[in-house]
Amino acid sequence: MKNDKAIVVFSGGQDSTTCLFWAIKNFKEVEAVTFDYNQRHSLEIECAKNIANELGVRHHILDMSLLNQLAPNALTRSDIEVKEGEEGELPSTFVPGRNLLFLTFAGVLARQVGAKHLVTGVCETDFSGYPDCRDIFIKSLNVTLNLSMDEQFVIHTPLMWLNKAETWALADELGKLEYVRENTLTCYNGVISDGCGECPACVLRKRGLDDFTNGRF
Ligand code: ZN
Repeated sequence: MKNDKAIVVFSGGQDSTTCLFWAIKNFKEVEAVTFDYNQRHSLEIECAKNIANELGVRHHILDMSLLNQLAPNALTRSDIEVKEGEEGELPSTFVPGRNLLFLTFAGVLARQVGAKHLVTGVCETDFSGYPDCRDIFIKSLNVTLNLSMDEQFVIHTPLMWLNKAETWALADELGKLEYVRENTLTCYNGVISDGCGECPACVLRKRGLDDFTNGRF
């Protein structure tokens, strides 16, 4: 892995920024790709741009506005409320096909820039219930991508089995906890760093950080 090149799917949030640092440690060359699908906060794109710039990572921003056209949701439309799904129902923040499309386009980009590795911050243990964050989906897509382009891509998911506290622990292990805490945007209300403190994303992020700080993980 050390001599290879990787593409990181990068949103400027806590998870993908931690993955970016993980990739920088594990690969010789790293590039990042951010998808613009009219997120509620264009600040998310700015945030990703700034981080990539600061770390000296080549950054690709791809227009994915068709995703919003096809599947309007709480992350792209301010008139749709962010809420947890009822029992057996997906939350309003679920964007159908998002990771399928993102990773597919990341694969096409990887082929173009000669990268064999794809890195994504998806996680099965974060309780979001998104089907396209599950390990089995990633493995299935990995096979499909390889068959579709006759390539030998490897999709890496360093956070797949980590809870939020363990993700903070990983950032800490990489020596980047403070950086991740101060520079990333996870909040649904577009407040950088520790966020608004009230939206589901902030609550989850803070609980994870508290658990990590108190050694409860
Ligand atoms: Zn928030």
